[in-house]
Amino acid sequence: MSVPASKKSRSAVRRRRSHHAMKAQNVGICAGCQAPLVSHQACTTCGFYKGKQVVDVSRNTARLVKRAQPAAPQAHDHADHDHGDHDQSKKQKNTKSKTKLLPATEEKAS
Ligand SMILES: [Zn+2]
Repeated sequence: MSVPASKKSRSAVRRRRSHHAMKAQNVGICAGCQAPLVSHQACTTCGFYKGKQVVDVSRNTARLVKRAQPAAPQAHDHADHDHGDHDQSKKQKNTKSKTKLLPATEEKAS
């Protein structure tokens, strides 16, 4: 790793970072569906750009509907494999530590 020739002064660092601020994006309105629209990009709601259908939005809506639904827990039988009891062992460790603490406090009290 190379070593910098001299330390950047606080002033130089702050001067450099004076250009790092983010600017708010210009948001327009879609002519087709009146949805908020990032300029120079196709509408994400209706897929129109400059009055032409350029994006197939039907695929997007199907994906969004699928994403909105809560994921069902994957049920499967445990006949051919074993997950191991890693979750149970964690619980046992926690209970062990608690049981170890309890007798120690009782001994100090007596
Ligand atoms: Zn639109």
